Amino acid sequence: MTGPDRPWRATILTLYPEMFPGPLGLSLSGDALARGAWSLEPRNIRDHGIGRHRSVDDTPAGGGAGMVLRCDVLAAAIDAATLADDARPRLLMSPRGRPLTQARVRALAEGPGAVIVCGRFEGVDERVIAGRALEEVSIGDYVLSGGEIAAMVLLDACVRLLPGTMGKEASGRDESFEGGRLEYPHYTRPREWEGHAIPEVLTGGNHGAIERWRRERSDAITRERRPDLIVGGGEG
Ligand code: SAH
Repeated sequence: MTGPDRPWRATILTLYPEMFPGPLGLSLSGDALARGAWSLEPRNIRDHGIGRHRSVDDTPAGGGAGMVLRCDVLAAAIDAATLADDARPRLLMSPRGRPLTQARVRALAEGPGAVIVCGRFEGVDERVIAGRALEEVSIGDYVLSGGEIAAMVLLDACVRLLPGTMGKEASGRDESFEGGRLEYPHYTRPREWEGHAIPEVLTGGNHGAIERWRRERSDAITRERRPDLIVGGGEG
């Protein structure tokens, strides 16, 4: 469990520590960081580089394009960042990983934090993945140029779930993916805009009717856009 005395701890292993906190230093995640609800420690993999040039990568065995992050350099960086009793999961951002879900995000947020390795170039030497028990996590079926933005996506999703981070605790419960469905539509003032009125039920004050309408819209939108969430039973 995390709390004010034991903040959720994120350690990032990257070749670009100056990218952090970046957008995570603003808004909800930034406020939570300033408040001490979570901590962020970016560490430069290059500090463990080899030789005068602090080299971190080399050409792929077997040939082919690009460069590969060395297993010895990465392992040294991971070992220096984690004590033997560090209970945090070690994640490697990777397009080959299991796609990130709200359920995994919630489980991570309920734990002590995470150690996150950001790949670059063609990726990392396969041996360090097993050698340091890295869990590969993908943020979607597309290829980024590095793991940093993927790590920020994961961190943003986790941090907003930390106790006291969201303005209203309830806003986490009705959301998309919670309970295997997408969220109902939202409206706010003005009541009439470009000939479109807010659905009458929402301004009528009948809370039972509002609840039923939202449930019905949520079901319809999920059926139409993401039937896989229903068939799959929902991962949230
Ligand atoms: N050659 C690799 C892609 C390397 S992209 C392949 O074809 O699988 C360089 C780095 O960006 C990766 O090591 C990873 O850390 C990060 N990355 C790229 N796409 C990602 C994704 N969809 N999810 C998470 N991390 C990703």
